[in-house]
Amino acid sequence: MADSKELLTKLSDASTESEFFSPIPTGYKKGKTKYVFVMGTVMSGLGKGIFSSCLAKLLQDKGLKVAPIKLEGYLNIDSGTLNPFRHGEVFVLDDGMETDMDLGTYERMLDLDLSKANFATSGQIFSSVLNKERHGDYLGRDVQMIPHVTGEVKLKLRQLAADSKADVVFVEIGGTVGDLENAYYLEAMRELAYEEGPHSSCFVALTYILEPPALGEQKSKAAQLGIKQVMQLGIQPDIIACRATNPVNEKARQKISIYSNVPFERVVSLHDSASIYMIPSMLREHGLDFEVLRLLKIEDRINLRHERKAWARWCDFTDRIGTARYKSTIGITGKYTSVRDSYASIINALEHAGIALGCDVGIEWIETTDITDKNAAERLASVDGIIVPGGFGSRGAEGKIACVRYARESDLPYLGLCLGFQMAVIDFARNVCKLKGAGSTELDPKCAEPVIDILPEQKKIEGLGGNMRLGGRDVEIKPETVAWNLFGGKDSVRMRFRHRYEVDPKYIETLEAGGLVFSGKAPDQPIMQILELPDHPFFMGTQAHPCLTSRPLRPSPMFVGLVAAATKRRHAQVDLPDCIEAVKQVAGLA
Ligand code: GLN
Repeated sequence: MADSKELLTKLSDASTESEFFSPIPTGYKKGKTKYVFVMGTVMSGLGKGIFSSCLAKLLQDKGLKVAPIKLEGYLNIDSGTLNPFRHGEVFVLDDGMETDMDLGTYERMLDLDLSKANFATSGQIFSSVLNKERHGDYLGRDVQMIPHVTGEVKLKLRQLAADSKADVVFVEIGGTVGDLENAYYLEAMRELAYEEGPHSSCFVALTYILEPPALGEQKSKAAQLGIKQVMQLGIQPDIIACRATNPVNEKARQKISIYSNVPFERVVSLHDSASIYMIPSMLREHGLDFEVLRLLKIEDRINLRHERKAWARWCDFTDRIGTARYKSTIGITGKYTSVRDSYASIINALEHAGIALGCDVGIEWIETTDITDKNAAERLASVDGIIVPGGFGSRGAEGKIACVRYARESDLPYLGLCLGFQMAVIDFARNVCKLKGAGSTELDPKCAEPVIDILPEQKKIEGLGGNMRLGGRDVEIKPETVAWNLFGGKDSVRMRFRHRYEVDPKYIETLEAGGLVFSGKAPDQPIMQILELPDHPFFMGTQAHPCLTSRPLRPSPMFVGLVAAATKRRHAQVDLPDCIEAVKQVAGLA
């Protein structure tokens, strides 16, 4: 207790005499790190994360070190308990933090592995403040939203700056300006910018330009009112990015410029784009990268040689978008309607694989509740490959198993992700190894042959009640298998996990005797993590989520393998490479 008090006194101005409270972490150098704050007005869902990550990428290409952080308004400590069909997918970081899907956008765009330092929720901020209060860290003060809660937010941002040694920290504030739950974040941003001084920070407001079909013209009033709300908080935006369906015309931009004191050239159109990977070049055409450098006075820190190379590599990638020569359709067994956000990483990983292979990948969502062995052929007739993605609970499980069986028996390329890996084990146990009662205790706690189960060892290792195995783990790859070839002959690869159940080791021998190959496992533990069938064009399952680590320029080999096999099946008349050959060619490209 004495220690933490001492530390905080040293770090801050906290005292009963002072109204200031701005703890500065050790090692923090004022002026070294600059801040870009990205906020949204008018409505949510504007793509703040996409904008922020694309702008960060342009600075990263110039040789600057960037560190993003997303500030969430909700009171949950992490996103682990959020329903993905309401809030988008839960994105798991290497350190096991369960975050918002925007962190996936940052990882993909910046090709960085992020950590819990890059993600905060109101739950985390308040719990930290309350813990400090119980430790007596506030020295007799009444603990207030300002300066203590805002002080905690500033501390988190400065901590990230100090630890990452970033030139620029990109701060994305979740929600919309005007929400009660993020108001204190915006206040903290204002305070931080003030404390850090001129040229320390750049405020970007995203807004939305309406274009009602009945009027046929763009209307900027809602955007003006949204910006007005920002200014009422004492924040002067430096850049306004206007989201819209179509390019925002000069008139609308001029109106916003006059109204907001933001120079016309910094009121830019950020209209819809076919691929988010085209947005960096849109921002570049608007000159936003150099505007930010000038606003932050860091033009002298950039390396233009670095940028030339990075940009050329990026353009090699984006030039391939929309030029596909082949087509394939991947069926994904998804159980709800608002599936796009719930499966964001899978959709991205398919896009990366498709672009790398010159294949336009279409997605067909498959509801499995009424699929059986009898109608699977008919229901899957239009797809060239199938993914059974991760999931929890028993809904549609038998239908998924029927899909796996059909894929296995009719050479339809298959990729099972986490739950999909488990479904593949169940199908194989039931239909090849003849363990009729094979199942998973998650789906049927009383099943006769629980090939998938929570294991006692895991309960011991992972904590009482069998908590999830979360985050990045090394996976040992069996030499000479398909997985080993896909991973370029590496004996170990790092993958991300989020599961509770796994193959019960006592069934491994039976499954292998039946012909199933476990090509990836946990080092030193009998935890099976990748499975494959040698005599199938592509049949693979993994207990991990390879979609979480697929990057535009480094697509996931498993997804490339699936899409290559599906494309080969679709274009049977062309002599296309098999999955292993295709992955090798892509690796040469990347
Ligand atoms: N429900 C399964 C488990 O907990 C699969 C989890 C998942 O697909 N992410 O093991």
